[in-house]
Amino acid sequence: MITVVLGSLLLGAVVWIVLLLTRRNFSNTASVEHLNQTNAPENLEIRSLLEATMSGMREGLLVVDKDMRVVASNSAAHKLFNPSVPALKSQRLTELTRNPAVYSAFLDGLQGIERNDVKVETHGPERQVFDLRVIPIGNANGNGAEGALGVFFDITRTERLELVRQEFLSNVSHELRTPLTSIIAFVETLETGATEDPESCQRFLSIIRKNASRMHELIDDILELTAIEGGNVQLRAAPVKLQGLVHDVCSSLAVKASAHSVTLKNDIASEVIVHADVRRLEQMLTNLIDNGIKFSHEHGTVTISYESGARDKILVHDNGEGIPAQHLERLFERFYRVDRARSRDMGGTGLGLAIVKHLALLHGGEVTVTSELGKGSTFTVHLPKT
Ligand code: ADP
Repeated sequence: MITVVLGSLLLGAVVWIVLLLTRRNFSNTASVEHLNQTNAPENLEIRSLLEATMSGMREGLLVVDKDMRVVASNSAAHKLFNPSVPALKSQRLTELTRNPAVYSAFLDGLQGIERNDVKVETHGPERQVFDLRVIPIGNANGNGAEGALGVFFDITRTERLELVRQEFLSNVSHELRTPLTSIIAFVETLETGATEDPESCQRFLSIIRKNASRMHELIDDILELTAIEGGNVQLRAAPVKLQGLVHDVCSSLAVKASAHSVTLKNDIASEVIVHADVRRLEQMLTNLIDNGIKFSHEHGTVTISYESGARDKILVHDNGEGIPAQHLERLFERFYRVDRARSRDMGGTGLGLAIVKHLALLHGGEVTVTSELGKGSTFTVHLPKT
């Protein structure tokens, strides 16, 4: 929003200056560059103001004359169109771009029609999206304008964020709909008479409870992730005795581990101290060890160990099913799962690893994974020493 407002203010300033200049010069030479040869003191002042404004703009700025030749541009436009040519000046617009949207917007500009919100996409190695605004300059006695000024606002990042937001919302709705549908179905079954059979009644109620808890966990995780990503989580980093912390996490997961017949092994030496926010480190380790239990085979082992180096490394290793290599790169994305249906059955929200990743980043560290199919996985939390 601020960018748009600033952009509009800058655009206003530039249009004003260009209009001022063109009123004096377009009629002679159809070129803003003509000013360079006119050294009257007031022109010099205006010229330096124009140059500073144009080169300070992040937006690409391009002015063409009646023949669609470039008469002025800034460095952002140069980068956008053709960084390999020394200057854009005197180039025809058609030599710079074959994009019909750009061409037709400038054509309208030359006919005296202002164009706003023209979406321009580039398809080079790096896809970029621009919002183009074209304004006619001067009046060629009823024959349209003397030139046209185009401003290219880079909206690549905004577009990408919007896409991520939409994807996130659609994932959240989908994730919430599944347990909700199940709850509604079982409530309806109870309403239509199943209450007479106490055994079925109990079973249905426990399914309803399980699904309601899932929704609860999901909402908690979403709120947590949103808070972390939004920068609303303050870390209180301090020295942490790792062995004791791992012991506490293992104790809290002991019931789950024994239900899966999985052994938890704390391999941390008693003297190891790391620098972290203790509650957040506990949260990371809980997520990773919990996953280790879920994706272990029966009688598997989840081992937590420590390695020293340039950074402190906390390793959570399981000898479970492992993760196919093609999934590793995307594993820390929100809602990414190797086997969607199975992970859901195991009670996961699909947000655990995304939370671990963001918490590790917040510490100035990172989380990495190595895995071998059929042999197991190792998740490593890397933390800076202080
Ligand atoms: P979930 O709630 O589904 O566990 P996570 O974000 O914690 O969500 O994990 C994302 C996915 O990564 C899991 O669904 C699973 O496919 C995979 N995964 C995570 N940890 C392990 C592990 N230790 N072994 C095998 N797969 C794992």
